[in-house]
Amino acid sequence: MTFRTLLLSTTLAAVTAPALADVTIYTTRQPDLIQPVMDAFTAETGIDVSLQFVDDGLVERLKAEGARSPADLVMTVDIANLQRVVDADVLQPVDSDVLKNAVPADLRSADDLWFALTTRARIVYASKDRVADGEITTYEDLASDTWNGRICTRSGVHNYTLALVSAVIDHVGEDAAKDWAAGVKANLARSPQGNDRAQVKAIWAGECDISLGNTYYMGKMLANEEQQAWADSVRIVFPSFAAGGTHVNVSGIAMTQSAPNRDEALQLMEFLVTPESQAIYAEVNYEYPVLVDAPLSELVAGWGTFTPDGVDLTTIAGHRATALRIMEEVDFDG
Ligand code: FE
Repeated sequence: MTFRTLLLSTTLAAVTAPALADVTIYTTRQPDLIQPVMDAFTAETGIDVSLQFVDDGLVERLKAEGARSPADLVMTVDIANLQRVVDADVLQPVDSDVLKNAVPADLRSADDLWFALTTRARIVYASKDRVADGEITTYEDLASDTWNGRICTRSGVHNYTLALVSAVIDHVGEDAAKDWAAGVKANLARSPQGNDRAQVKAIWAGECDISLGNTYYMGKMLANEEQQAWADSVRIVFPSFAAGGTHVNVSGIAMTQSAPNRDEALQLMEFLVTPESQAIYAEVNYEYPVLVDAPLSELVAGWGTFTPDGVDLTTIAGHRATALRIMEEVDFDG
């Protein structure tokens, strides 16, 4: 091919190819954890994805930008954050059979406003040296005298804790949930502080024997040179409710009301629930795919199996205010 014909064909291609819009995502997740699956989407469709990391104020930003927002999609973690975006009235429902078939009904909103992409369990990290197999099996156990002075946890008013307390409320009722929270507080080795990984560090340092944490932090600690020793000092225990399963929460995606590139954004949402992208996305985040048939990463599979608790996430979100009040009344962080 001569240079002239090459130039001509390139020009023609530029004229005839339909202009594909980028999809813009506001995400509270670290972009490097999402990038691999976005690259796969771009490779398959030719649609570029612009990831905008929004650390704080996602809802405020969407409201301020209104109809002029460049955002097509939002990605965030935890039902409390998803519910905040729902309550702000900045989303549009997405009616997609692909999404409905892939995402179980209890992992998406009943009105099609958000869809979970991955799940994570809130579990117990237990010292390999100081906690026997089977010594803790339920969340209710955390309030028993056996654990006096042996528990570490992050703040009682963090979203992760409040979601768990909300599940407790749903299982045992408000009064018993308050007793439970007071019982757990009485068992703490130190006042709540730090993040989930800091609690595992405290177990490693001998300050406590068990902690509450999300499953994926095991993967993150193992991938971090300094934190590997912390991870090696504990094993994951999947507690369940006495009359239920293991508490899970989600990461999810939603479409903005003003999405400038609705079709491309829908294409991306549907791509994110294919077996391939579910596997990639869950693997880089050490989470569980929502798609039943998608494979788990080898590391995550090695942690064992559990039965997710049956309490619906929208119900969890509905108990949040009560959970917050209980944690304040028992002065959990005090
Ligand atoms: Fe987290």
